[in-house]
Amino acid sequence: MGKESFLLGDGCYNCSDCGKCCHNWLVEVDENEQTIINNLKWNTEDQVPDKVLQELGGRTYLAHKESGACAFFDEDKGHCKIHAKFKGSLKPLGCKLYPFQIQKTVSEQYSVGLRYDCPEVVSNQGKPLTEYKKELTKLAPQLNVHSPKDSQKNELSNDSISDILHLFATMYKQENDLGFEKIAAGIIAAGRLPLLGDTFINDLSMREIIPSYLERAVDDIKTTKIRRMGAFEEARFMAFLSMLIRNDEVAIKGKSVSNRVSRVGIISKFIFGRANLHHFDPQFPDANVGRSELFKTDVTYMDSCWPVLHRFLAMRIQTHQFFGPHYQGLRFFEGLQYLHLIAVSTIALAKWHALALGRITVTEEQIKKSLAWCDHNYGKSQLLKTKPAVILARQCMDIDNNMRQLNGILAFRLT
Ligand code: SF4
Ligand code: SF4
Repeated sequence: MGKESFLLGDGCYNCSDCGKCCHNWLVEVDENEQTIINNLKWNTEDQVPDKVLQELGGRTYLAHKESGACAFFDEDKGHCKIHAKFKGSLKPLGCKLYPFQIQKTVSEQYSVGLRYDCPEVVSNQGKPLTEYKKELTKLAPQLNVHSPKDSQKNELSNDSISDILHLFATMYKQENDLGFEKIAAGIIAAGRLPLLGDTFINDLSMREIIPSYLERAVDDIKTTKIRRMGAFEEARFMAFLSMLIRNDEVAIKGKSVSNRVSRVGIISKFIFGRANLHHFDPQFPDANVGRSELFKTDVTYMDSCWPVLHRFLAMRIQTHQFFGPHYQGLRFFEGLQYLHLIAVSTIALAKWHALALGRITVTEEQIKKSLAWCDHNYGKSQLLKTKPAVILARQCMDIDNNMRQLNGILAFRLT
């Protein structure tokens, strides 16, 4: 595989063996992997449970113990028994890959990003992605990933796509005092650029014009007055949020009628009344926050909240990981708007978290936790791939709606 076949995102990570990815998450195993797992020879003292695989919804996954740990996770030593007793290469591909996220760019390169549901990725500590090249070279070809189709490129040339993405990623990577303003500028630019038309954007002279677009968008944030969201718009955004944070893991496991009814109840409360995120994920405080508090109460954000979100946006943009087959088949500009909707949703969840604790300042930790939650499902959740979810997302993610949502959450410039 040639050197040029990889597009590596900026980001660092070292596994700290925290075990988070070996708990509760579903790791799918194909037939070949099932054979390998079924042929592993264990002794009684290895204490591997009898049931190591589980069938859910017609697919096979690694089984979990009562505690939520994977059947092969050693809870005393905090490591994987397959890795410790045999070798890492015998683990399922899903385990070997995590937290790398491998997809393909418009020019058939493998693009490699990192998943923000891993705490070490969010901390951005450790070895840069470039130092994982050797293992990525082995792992990437084992995956069945496809490039976005031509129909998803908005008639843009590959060069135009690269130029636009370079511009956005550079804005998010630049260190300066702009916090939410950059995200708002990204929303405005992602909404305005397609209005120029593909012929204009593909013209070489656009290379000089496009940079001023983002600068203008940042300036516009300072002067633009944005209308307050109506009750319907708020409920619609909450409906999208509830879909974004609903884990496939929980949904697949809790398919009984009573579980479904209780989930519908929780989601309805979330959309129409008082949300309790603890019911979705026990790591969030067990407290209700009303929709009106979420959209109307003013809170402040620690300056350190923004670089985490900017890094996330830069990585997804740099690696083209926001449109194409993995992202509900979204086209380029739609994907760019959807990515910003994920950022807005992250800010909303972090604000919810602060309010549930009775605080008026959103911390970096709250942004990190919310981002981990959103990125766990972004591009992967089966629910988000359904037609109603795509329609709902489309209604929430255009320039006006994204800005109103951001405005409602930050309460920064209400008219
Ligand atoms: S979540 Fe990340 S740091 Fe924790 S064990 Fe998994 S890869 Fe390692
Ligand atoms: S097989 Fe090993 S690495 Fe994979 S989830 Fe189980 S314990 Fe973790």
